[in-house]
Amino acid sequence: MLNPKLLPNLVKKIVTANVSQLGLRLPTSPLKITLALTYRCNFQCKICGIWRIYQESPEKIENELTLRDYCTLFSSLNSWDPLYLEFIGGEPFLRNDIDSIIIESIRRIKILNLCTITTNGFNPNLIKEKVLNIHENISSKIHLTIGVSLDGTPAVHNFLKGQKHAWDNAYKTFTAI
Ligand code: SF4
Repeated sequence: MLNPKLLPNLVKKIVTANVSQLGLRLPTSPLKITLALTYRCNFQCKICGIWRIYQESPEKIENELTLRDYCTLFSSLNSWDPLYLEFIGGEPFLRNDIDSIIIESIRRIKILNLCTITTNGFNPNLIKEKVLNIHENISSKIHLTIGVSLDGTPAVHNFLKGQKHAWDNAYKTFTAI
């Protein structure tokens, strides 16, 4: 549930966004920010081309932000008062420092209320370990949500993901966290 103290900020952002749709320009800042932590992915889904990015242009991996870059970014985002950060990939849990990145985002963006991470659930133990570490190092006021992608029945999911055990691992991750 949203902290009532955040309500005025939320209302201001929604009103500003709606007014700007009428053509009136008002100073505004985002309610939600989405960050792709990496374009690396260990799946080759038929519905997605992200996994091709580094295969076709391996040098682009050098452009990924480091933990230090993220710390600088989060400190600068603090003045925007975002309430919601969404972390996606690629597969974000392929970054060893994902837990540190999330913890630093929450430490540095004071008004943050909700963090979500989307995963393909490839490694239940690793994901559980990272999520537990994040939980132990953040305020209980922050809502942390892990979204595990499921694209259909086991057969459909495995077919679309191009992985024999994709559904089993996603399900195990879902139940583990
Ligand atoms: S797991 Fe996600 S990012 Fe990776 S290829 Fe599939 S849809 Fe794309």
